[in-house]
Amino acid sequence: EAPAAEQELTDGFHLVIDALKLNGIDTIYGVPGIPITDLGRFAQSEGIRVVSFRHEQNAGNAAAIAGFLTKKPGVCLTVSAPGFLNGLTALANATTNCFPMILISGSSEREIVDLQQGDYEEMDQLAIAKPLCKAAFRVLHAADIGIGVARAIRAAVSGRPGGVYLDLPAKLFGQVMDAAEGERSLVKVIDAAPAQIPAPEAVDRAVALLKAAKKPLVILGKGAAYSQADEEIRSFVEKTGIPFLPMSMAKGILPDTHPQSAGAARSLVLKEADVVMLVGARLNWLLSHGKGKTWGPAGSQKFIQIDIEPREMDSNIEIAAPIVADISSAMAALNAKVGGWAGAPKEWLATVSEKKDANIAKMAPRLMKNSAPMDFHSALGALRTIIKERPDAILVNEGANTLDLARGIIDMYQPRKRLDVGTWGVMGIGMGFAVGAAVETGKPVLAVEGDSAFGFSGMEVETICRYDLPVCIVIFNNNGIYRGTDTDPNGRDPGTTVFVKDARYDKMMEAFGGVGVHVTTPDELSRAVNAAMDSGKPTLINAVIDPTAGSESGNIGSLNPQSVVKRK
Ligand code: ADP
Ligand code: MG
Repeated sequence: EAPAAEQELTDGFHLVIDALKLNGIDTIYGVPGIPITDLGRFAQSEGIRVVSFRHEQNAGNAAAIAGFLTKKPGVCLTVSAPGFLNGLTALANATTNCFPMILISGSSEREIVDLQQGDYEEMDQLAIAKPLCKAAFRVLHAADIGIGVARAIRAAVSGRPGGVYLDLPAKLFGQVMDAAEGERSLVKVIDAAPAQIPAPEAVDRAVALLKAAKKPLVILGKGAAYSQADEEIRSFVEKTGIPFLPMSMAKGILPDTHPQSAGAARSLVLKEADVVMLVGARLNWLLSHGKGKTWGPAGSQKFIQIDIEPREMDSNIEIAAPIVADISSAMAALNAKVGGWAGAPKEWLATVSEKKDANIAKMAPRLMKNSAPMDFHSALGALRTIIKERPDAILVNEGANTLDLARGIIDMYQPRKRLDVGTWGVMGIGMGFAVGAAVETGKPVLAVEGDSAFGFSGMEVETICRYDLPVCIVIFNNNGIYRGTDTDPNGRDPGTTVFVKDARYDKMMEAFGGVGVHVTTPDELSRAVNAAMDSGKPTLINAVIDPTAGSESGNIGSLNPQSVVKRK
């Protein structure tokens, strides 16, 4: 046997890096610290792009959106206990949204944690992560790193995508083994997200319903956007002449200006359609659970649902024609069956178009006002033109009014260009998504942020400057949450929903070497965004919005519980 000094060795650090690289993972988002500081350093020196953030939640959101954009799991790397918990919020959000992501956290020593003897950052992270993600694994032996990483990747991207937790105790990183043996222990995952072909009967059942429909409707969800079945979807919609309604992150699979888009006639089509085909969209709260006053009379509408997750069927109401399959395979099978069909009744599309044109015409004058103070409509009118002229830019969007109104007003022209608050309607995804989108695509990013929403991830403007990313942030600054007008009835403190009046968020960007701009009119806003997009320089535009312009909770004010008690 060769003496130890001559034997080629590898260790836990390098096996983790080699396992990720072997599986095509080229970027890690994270925050360094004990015990993963060297893992990040070594990964960078081995050619992996390591993007270090200021807070783990933002790194996790970047990883999650990387997963959505690329169909490869986005990787987030954190320290133990608090860092892990910060990242866990993003992991849970990724799971809820069906984005593939792997949270890798360093952890403390098992022997001490399990006896609860009070280790540095002691926490049973595996147990805590488990209910909040799709799968959770821990690796104790260097020789198992290859399998552990392979299992994490497969769990994240196969079937319904989601978040996976991988627990790596500190001691693992320093464990050594023979280098050649280590290399043999790595696993390259073959066919990580296998096609799921629909049963022919399921496809026939759906086609029969569609052909008998007088008022069919296709609803595209972010699962459709994720699947990247752009061509199959477009061809199905255009061949059948069925109007389509995109959910917010599905906007742009077909352009919002497409003659069959029912975006601006949403209320009409949800109420009147007789057969509704859901493509990668869940009948959750965002679609009023498929029932109630948003929809037609109970039982009057039949549903077809294409989803990779069998248990999604009948989750809220009866699904008459479930197609359990991946969207690409399902759309291909449907396209093969609708060849000779003349398509949906033309009168239906005409009714939808008429309503749509009327709604668009009603909105138009509000988008063209060019004066100070701006309201949401006049500011968004300016941004709408920018996306029209730069359709390959990525729009990140969060806030209350800023979100709801931007979703309706800004037309999207290409798939996977609109990234927003998703299934939870959560605030705080802004800068994480912006960084992830810029890093993964190299395209310019326009982040349209409510002033409150921005606050959850605002420190990452330093990250954006440090990596010199082409991100332009527009803050709709109306001095507060929903509105900037709340006051304390007792006159002691500021109202609970207001911020410092007339704050200058643009100065934050200047502090880190980026470009800060303060604007008060739509023309100034347009000029500043265009300059940012032309230069590619990190830019933050403080867009002053009338503090009285917003409405409580945007479009979802009805979700606020009401007190019946009247007290002075
Ligand atoms: P939206 O909020 O846009 O309506 P949801 O997140 O509610 O979208 O729904 C997305 C659905 O898409 C999920 O039920 C998920 O299982 C499904 N899905 C994700 N990827 C695929 C895929 N490749 N093929 C089929 N279904 C998918
Ligand atoms: Mg606000």
